[in-house]
Amino acid sequence: MSPGAPVFRFAPSPNGRLHLGHAYSALLNADLARKSEGLCRLRIEDIDPLRSKPDLVTAIGADLAWLGLTYPEPVRHQSRHMDAYRAALDGLIARGLAYPCFCSRGQIRAPTAANAGGPHDPDGVPHYPGLCRGLDPVITAERLARGEPHAWRLDMAAALRGAVGPLGYTAFDEAGAWPVAADPARWGDAVIARRDVPTSYHLAVVHDDAEEGITHVVRGRDLEAATDLHVLLQRLLGLPTPRYRHHRLILDTLGEKLAKSRGSQSLADLRQAGTTPEQIRRRLGFV
Ligand code: GLU
Repeated sequence: MSPGAPVFRFAPSPNGRLHLGHAYSALLNADLARKSEGLCRLRIEDIDPLRSKPDLVTAIGADLAWLGLTYPEPVRHQSRHMDAYRAALDGLIARGLAYPCFCSRGQIRAPTAANAGGPHDPDGVPHYPGLCRGLDPVITAERLARGEPHAWRLDMAAALRGAVGPLGYTAFDEAGAWPVAADPARWGDAVIARRDVPTSYHLAVVHDDAEEGITHVVRGRDLEAATDLHVLLQRLLGLPTPRYRHHRLILDTLGEKLAKSRGSQSLADLRQAGTTPEQIRRRLGFV
């Protein structure tokens, strides 16, 4: 790879077997890397201690190898880098951009005067009504010292004030590149660290894309809205913003997005049924 060559990545979460949607993303990233004489890294996004299973990490490796895909070593496993995410989180907390949220799911979901009919995030979840924003600092410190379970939320209004200048990124496809304005406010006070680990998907992904020198992020359209939040986090953390491509989703015969939870056929099922990697490539439009 020559200096300045593009760096792509495929970043699955090991909480189920890979399906055709993953294969499309992995093959597209690999093809783009090959055509641009860049490289494509593999990252295991295993921050979820309950849903991530070591045997699924092994299975991901086997499925990708079966598809003919190989990746440079070392492969980054997010679960091994919690200290780095903690440090990034601490930086945001120290600047007053994040606050602890002690609310239970039930408390947040219960309709309140604050969220009734109010804004929803792009995933359809009502914006956090701000119950823990502006809690008395002495009481907050006491609750933290007692070890009361809590997540950390981005104080969106403070974050937007801290992010100087317009927010946006460059999107690209095979036809060209164009600027996109980012609107992170539509996420409200997003969770940037879960109760069980000092990060969330959003914080870990922007940290790692920078850490691994990723120049081109190619992922499904289902994550397009999240990019707005990622651009904001990059600005706050002083990280570069890669170029983004949000690719089409592979749908099942009912026109639904493939998902482990809906029991979509995995690559392993297809392999067992006699499908070849060549057939998968053709079915997904790669020649
Ligand atoms: N780990 C995420 C997933 O499996 C993908 C994250 C990304 O590409 O940014 O859905």
